[in-house]
Amino acid sequence: MKTQILAPVALAISLAIAGCQPSSNETTQQENTQEKQPAAQAQQLTQSNPFFSPFDTPYGIPDFAKIEKDHYMPAFDHGIAENKKEIETIANSSAPATFENTIVAMEKSGEFLNNVSNVFYGLTSSMSDDKMRAIAKEVSPKLSALGDDIALNANLFARVKAVYQQKDQLELRIDQQTLLERTYKGFVRGGANLNDADKTSLRALNEKLSKLSLSFGENILNETNNFEMVVDNKADLAGLPDDIIAAAAVTATDRDHDGKWVFTTHRPSKNPFLTYSTNRKLRETIYKGYTMRGNNGNEYDNQAIASQMASLRYQKAQLLGYKSHADFTLENATAKTPENVFKLLDQVWPAALGRAKEERDDIQKMIDAEGGEFKVAAWDWWFYSEKIRKARYDIDASQTKPYFSLESTLQGIFFTAEKLWGVTFKERNDLPKYHDDVRTFEVTDKDGSFVGIYMTDHYVRESKRGGAWMSSFRKQHRMNGEDVTPIIYNVLNYPRPVGDKPTLLTFDQASTLFHEFGHAIQGLLSDGYYRSQTGTALPRDYVEYPSQVMENWMTEPEVLANFAKHYETGEVIPQALVEKIQASGKFNQGFGTTEYLAAALLDMSWHSLQTAELQDANSFEADMMKKIGLIDEIAPRYRTGYYSHIFSGGYSSGYYGYIWSNIYDADTWLAFKENGIFDQKTADSYRKNILEPGGTEDPTIMYRRFRGQDPKVAPLLERRGLTSK
Ligand SMILES: [Zn+2]
Repeated sequence: MKTQILAPVALAISLAIAGCQPSSNETTQQENTQEKQPAAQAQQLTQSNPFFSPFDTPYGIPDFAKIEKDHYMPAFDHGIAENKKEIETIANSSAPATFENTIVAMEKSGEFLNNVSNVFYGLTSSMSDDKMRAIAKEVSPKLSALGDDIALNANLFARVKAVYQQKDQLELRIDQQTLLERTYKGFVRGGANLNDADKTSLRALNEKLSKLSLSFGENILNETNNFEMVVDNKADLAGLPDDIIAAAAVTATDRDHDGKWVFTTHRPSKNPFLTYSTNRKLRETIYKGYTMRGNNGNEYDNQAIASQMASLRYQKAQLLGYKSHADFTLENATAKTPENVFKLLDQVWPAALGRAKEERDDIQKMIDAEGGEFKVAAWDWWFYSEKIRKARYDIDASQTKPYFSLESTLQGIFFTAEKLWGVTFKERNDLPKYHDDVRTFEVTDKDGSFVGIYMTDHYVRESKRGGAWMSSFRKQHRMNGEDVTPIIYNVLNYPRPVGDKPTLLTFDQASTLFHEFGHAIQGLLSDGYYRSQTGTALPRDYVEYPSQVMENWMTEPEVLANFAKHYETGEVIPQALVEKIQASGKFNQGFGTTEYLAAALLDMSWHSLQTAELQDANSFEADMMKKIGLIDEIAPRYRTGYYSHIFSGGYSSGYYGYIWSNIYDADTWLAFKENGIFDQKTADSYRKNILEPGGTEDPTIMYRRFRGQDPKVAPLLERRGLTSK
């Protein structure tokens, strides 16, 4: 899985206070919210706290040098109090409710809080320590209380509803219509329209669901930690790489099995074991250990919990007026309805399954050729597919890495962006930054106008969480009259250069750099009024689309020739090598797509249920897999018992989203391939219809404006090598 763009906590907060932002900082000095605090002391506190006045820096970049950790909590408290007051003022106004005095006023409220949140949550992800974690823990319940205060404010909802009911007479722009719709629906989806008895039922359902979801997650954790496969005979380690054996020895010591080797169902242990171990019996043991988690009939069993959650979610959907939980969730997605999701998955499924069967037959052939007298089973797949991969496309990372230094890859990205949209990047070493690793670029448009600030933070650090993401210290918007320019950053975890040798990236790492830039450029080129809808404020099944599109340019000969040069000799990467890498990308895609789709369909099935009746989870899953014809050699990527995405992670009826974004990406790339990868008309239209509007309108409509039609599935099948041969 490639990336995550937003710090989840920050996202949750921006959602919790969605549609509720700021006012200026004018009143902060006299606004003493802590009654017991002596006024003079409070004033002193706010004067030395950089959050209490606009940052006096170039472009208003956060004044990192002056921000101390002790500044966050007072700033949060002030921001929360201020936001609360703003909301009260809107809710209790005696003037008739209008779009401006209600919807826009809500959108503008919370400016102060937004500002401190952007800095704090940006830095908790990349510069964390005990103190930052303690602040996060302290502020989290305060923010959810604020979210509740807003969501449950009956006067506020009455005004929002009053505006919503006049929506057809208001002659609103499309982004304003979207804002009104979202604000109103946000309340309705939280139960604001229900009578008191139903509100009580909803609260009870939410409470039960949140408890079950917590237990589900804890059970997986326990099941994962409790399983161990102890190996005491060295011969049983045959085939495993040395570092994996060494790690297993350490695990053994940790678990009081000194002198032996212990393997677990954690991925870094299980995956290499399945891929390299020649011991078929042990492969079976660890495979079953993994796939039976949460389904062992013990105290950590998740089957009944999953079934209860599906039932409760159905009841909740009913209460709120939806046919099913999937209907409820998908209302806010690009897909819109479960029928649309099934329609899409059904188009990809036969091609993926067909290819997976061919791959299975290839594996069986290899087994037969080796004289293994057995039928391939699920625990054989990794082992034999790795053998086949090695035979067909053995590419060592050391062959490609010298062509992808971090610096040249970054320059390749800037080259691509300039060719497409005329934007240029000028490095500035004199601007505020939160760490020495950060590099800052001034971004300028074709016509010389200033676009925004782009920061990169590329190197791995202990205080940084893993992965790669994009976020912002300030989003583009225009809701207060003036044009607020964005401050966008990309954070990655690449190794530091050693001595004179630059950081060299694997092909996938270079691809990730393009990917994250794809999010960043959407944040930079954003052109909208309201902060809650600009940049990457997009549905989950759509937000990865522009970033995935960006990856495509990287492997084009014209782009490679510009940047993929050997760091010592300057030689451009041989095209044959690139083709080999691309071909290997299609390898085993039948399996990958099939196990993914099976999981996506399982998610959709649980959440399209239109009954509160409890299901037997094991037979529910088995029946479903039988219905779609999944072969025995492949299990869904997540089985019900450990499907944390949907039962403890907030992705319910959303796991399909990855492939949904992929369809848009492949179809868009086809347009560039047909018209020319740097065709100005296509690039302009992509910028105007996809990048600039962000979440101001229904994405499917914007897409049609760009492409002239809905995306087709064929380009994706082609890319994954799933078309019939
Ligand atoms: Zn992404």
